[in-house]
Amino acid sequence: MPKKEFLEEYSLFRKLNTTIPKTLDLLAKPSINMHCHKCESIQTFNMKNEYYRPFGYANVPSGNTNIQMIYICQSCKEFNREFYAYISPNLDYIYKYGQYPEWEIKMDKNLEKTLGKHSQTFRKGLVCESQGYGIGAFAYYRRITEEIIDELLDSIIDLIEPENVDKYKTALEATKKTRVTQEKIELVKDLLPGILKPNGMNPLGVLHSELSEGLHAETDANCLENATHIKEILIFLINQIIQSKEAAKIFTSSMKTLLEKKSSKL
Ligand SMILES: [Zn+2]
Repeated sequence: MPKKEFLEEYSLFRKLNTTIPKTLDLLAKPSINMHCHKCESIQTFNMKNEYYRPFGYANVPSGNTNIQMIYICQSCKEFNREFYAYISPNLDYIYKYGQYPEWEIKMDKNLEKTLGKHSQTFRKGLVCESQGYGIGAFAYYRRITEEIIDELLDSIIDLIEPENVDKYKTALEATKKTRVTQEKIELVKDLLPGILKPNGMNPLGVLHSELSEGLHAETDANCLENATHIKEILIFLINQIIQSKEAAKIFTSSMKTLLEKKSSKL
């Protein structure tokens, strides 16, 4: 703590709930991998300052303090990344309130292509997220989910295990009869193929509960958490569906070549 992922990926004001050591000299200084604007590539950055330096002594109590982290690129030793974070009084959460260069609103090229006309809405969600506007981010990601859910569920059918195909088709028919996204998800979530369930986690199940819960989460901070999960699930599902289909295509064509070779030998 603070974790690498917190520094690399968390947007400003998104809380990381964790247990923080009592004094600043016990805080970890993880290496991070981020883009270096000087090297123009992803590089390892190491922290070059001490958390407690501005205070003048080492065992400064961590609670209710602002900390600074200055990271330097290990390749060029020139380009810095800076983070500013706040530690809660009870040592149970931390969030960034500033960083340079700022959190990037970057979109994966594959994702942008797949989302097509919906990618603008996704980008707006990212903009809200970058500012810590959780309610806005949640609304945009929910909108995206509503817009793409039919296509998303349709495209899963090619990946369904053979014994579940009929069941899935029936459920899919039923999804067309409701306009409520959560009801659509409810109908098919238990039929999701193993390939779309990392470590047995069901992304559609999580999506379902995040969408329902989000309506009741009133603060920006709570919505931001739900919004981030919805975004991550959408990215996972879209990428996984694309990859699985690509892999299946490659597999089929290489099997075909192999079989053709065999038959020509006979
Ligand atoms: Zn560099």
